[in-house]
Amino acid sequence: MMDFARRGVMLVIASPSGAGKSSISRQLFAQDPNIRLSVSITTRTRRTDEIDGTHYHFIDVPTFEKMRDRGELLEWAEVHGNYYATPREKVEERLSTGKDILFDIDYQGTLQLYENCREDMVTVFILPPSIAELRARLERRAQDSVGTIEKRLRNARKEMEHYSEYDYVLVNEDLEQSVQMVRSILASARLQRGRQTKLEGFVDELKAQIDALG
Ligand code: 5GP
Repeated sequence: MMDFARRGVMLVIASPSGAGKSSISRQLFAQDPNIRLSVSITTRTRRTDEIDGTHYHFIDVPTFEKMRDRGELLEWAEVHGNYYATPREKVEERLSTGKDILFDIDYQGTLQLYENCREDMVTVFILPPSIAELRARLERRAQDSVGTIEKRLRNARKEMEHYSEYDYVLVNEDLEQSVQMVRSILASARLQRGRQTKLEGFVDELKAQIDALG
């Protein structure tokens, strides 16, 4: 297929913990090299399995405050006493060169992005097929104690209330199918007229070719 110059897509995927967001994102990155995760900045301490620059850019509070006050952040939030934010510059750089970005940010962050860059965004909410399945997935992860799993299930109830603010909603019953659905959403977003930056010139050229027929 002809690939027109276009602006990148900001794809936001949200879900209650355990509904499959991470697995879907991982598959998406493996299958599609044009989309990358937006690496947030955070003031929280790095966990031992995290790499600075890959999972987050770990920064201190004064640096965060300086960036925020200079307007260098597209959105920011305080979660569990730590700051998290999306720096503006990297996002703009990718979008303007036609590269897509996946955002793993919380609901507060998504609302701010809606305010600042709605036209660039496509948002997807992932639901689990059932609560029994959600619990089973959380237990399979085996990272969390029984108490934490109960807490995550309660949180899931709260998180699910936001489904109506997302553009697309999908029930993650089968991982492969869900990945295909997200890829289809992304494919249609890429073709939206407003994103294609060289259409006018192309159509003019087609018209000129017809005119040249005499
Ligand atoms: P964690 O500390 O477990 O990596 O992330 C805690 C929460 O912060 C998660 O809900 C995650 O989605 C959210 N988060 C991570 N990065 C950002 C960001 O750049 N902006 C916002 N608003 N939330 C973020």
